[in-house]
This record gives sequence, structure tokens and C-alpha cells, in this order.
Amino acid sequence: SVECRNIRLSYGKTEVLKDINISIEPGEFFALLGPSGSGKSTLLRLIAGFNEHQSGQLLVDGQDISRVPPHKRNIGMVFQSYALWPHMTVWDNVAFGLVERRASRDEIRQKVTQALETVGLAHLAKRRPNELSGGQQQRVALARTIVIEPQVLLLDEPLSNLDKNLRVQMRQELLSLQRRLGITTIFVTHDQEEAMTTADRMAVMDQGVVQQVGSPSTLYDFPVNRFVADFVGTMN
Ligand code: ATP
Ligand code: MG
Repeated sequence: SVECRNIRLSYGKTEVLKDINISIEPGEFFALLGPSGSGKSTLLRLIAGFNEHQSGQLLVDGQDISRVPPHKRNIGMVFQSYALWPHMTVWDNVAFGLVERRASRDEIRQKVTQALETVGLAHLAKRRPNELSGGQQQRVALARTIVIEPQVLLLDEPLSNLDKNLRVQMRQELLSLQRRLGITTIFVTHDQEEAMTTADRMAVMDQGVVQQVGSPSTLYDFPVNRFVADFVGTMN
């Protein structure tokens, strides 16, 4: 589980996250939705440990990890621009995190094979990123993250670079992968339809404030304010 309690974050004088309270259940597929600049990426980076909050608590499985450095958090994040290492093969890109953690050769071989099979790319292990389609690169980024078996998976618009068809296909694959692995997942998107069709629950943010948290149907049927109604209602 991931719990944000009264979290505040400012860049200089600008308050970007204002008293964030969200509680995400173990194994949940949770969407974070909101317009550009609302603070979605800032919140994910904070959970991953790349941003520091000024006040509040961040609990993972009940433990406050606010002071735990990013590499010790066991949280996997796929960034908005999922830069792969261009000079490395798919295999080496995926193996990187394990090499960094000084895993044994056997462990690396077994886990990378499994991660690549999970995303359906075992046959492309020897390619380099520029020899892959956008969707395939996306899957490498995902494999690279799940290979370290994170407690929590943070996805920052991982499908935003894909065309509509691939996007719809990938989000189904992503969802079934998440279900299979049972990893607590926070998925950032500004696509209402994407959130509505995939998430167990979702939060709508605006200007650093969580406007509402609930199931897609709750937000659709019972929006607490005009902003949520307009934002969730614009899907068709
Ligand atoms: P998008 O949908 O465009 O990715 P977002 O919801 O992810 O938007 P954030 O990237 O979290 O938005 O940014 C929230 C606000 O914080 C924005 O107003 C942004 O300009 C500001 N911001 C982000 N990073 C910094 C920084 N390093 N220094 C100062 N301001 C920042
Ligand atoms: Mg963002």
C-alpha cells in the first residue's frame, strides 16, 4: 500500500502539491488524472524519492519512507520520457538494474529472460532501441522496471508516445501484466478514457489539490464539484 498524508511540496515560493491525502491499497491499479501542470509527475517523483516534500508523511506498507533514498525504496518508475540506453541491447537495458544491484550471473540470466517473456520481447533481446518500434521500446522500459521486482510500480504516462491503436492494445497488456504480478501500481495519465477503462480507483488533481478519489463510476456519477464533472465527463 502507498499512503500520502498531508503532503506539501513547493518549488521555491510556488506550492505545487497542497495537502495531498491519498491511500492506495495493495495490488490496486490506481490512476492519477489531471490537466498539464496539476502536479502528477511531481507526486510520482516524490513517491519514488526524487522530490522531497516539505511536510507530511509518505507511507509504504505502513512505514514512513520519507527519508529513505530512492535506490533503497524498492519502487520502480517508468518516466514520461522512458529513455533507454541507446548503445545497449534490449537485454543489457533490462539487465542494467540487476547488474547495479550486483546480482549473480545466473540470477540475471533467469530474471531478464523472464521479464522479456512477460512483455513478449524475448525474441528481440539482441536489438538496440533504435531498431524497435515505439511500442516495443515501451515494453523494454516496462521490462527494465519490473525486472527488479518492485513493491510499487509508478508509471508516468507510459503510453503517451504511442498511436491510438497501439495505445489501446498496450494498456490492456499493461493491465493484465499488473494483475498477474499483483504489484500496487500508480498510473499517471491525462486521458480520461484511459483512466476510466483501466483503473480500480482514481484521483483527479487540479493545481496541486486532489479534487476527488474514488472508483471511475463514482467520479462519473457523483462528481464532488464542477471541475471533476467537466474533467471526467469529457470522455465520450
Ligand atoms: P503534465 O501533464 O504536463 O506532465 P504534471 O501534472 O505532471 O503535468 P508537474 O510536472 O508535476 O505537472 O508540474 C507541476 C507544476 O510544478 C507545474 O506548474 C510545473 O511548472 C512546476 N514544476 C515542475 N518541476 C519544477 C521544478 N523543478 N522547478 C520549479 N517548478 C517546477
Ligand atoms: Mg507530468
